[in-house]
Amino acid sequence: MNYREVEGTREYVARLEHGRDWRGQIESFAETEGIDAAFFFGLGAVQDARLLFYDQEDKEYYPVEFDEPFEVVPVVGNISWLENERFAHTHAAFSREDGGTVAGHLDAATVFAGELYVREFETRLERTRDEVTDLDLWSL
Ligand code: ZN
Repeated sequence: MNYREVEGTREYVARLEHGRDWRGQIESFAETEGIDAAFFFGLGAVQDARLLFYDQEDKEYYPVEFDEPFEVVPVVGNISWLENERFAHTHAAFSREDGGTVAGHLDAATVFAGELYVREFETRLERTRDEVTDLDLWSL
């Protein structure tokens, strides 16, 4: 396990904008505030969702699309740098009217309503290609 001690004082609460992309709004916010590393979690509702499932044998992400409304049971993620852009690595669990859930790595979702808590760290986290998993992981 690789690790680094981090410190941070800036915390934010945010209300996501209706009709815009969930992850894209977090990345825009991080850009505006100059956030180079953070963790966040949130809740709310979305109108659709595009999840990506990482096939560990193929080493490829495969999309799973949902065109239906969901509750965002939680969303959790972090902000770091990937290929010269701020990237919000985001996972989510979504629930339906009957209480059933779908969950996974969130690529995109249209916000119906959303609330977010963000904790920034005063460091810069970068993702680089990991040879074992072929994923872009933190280089600590
Ligand atoms: Zn992921």
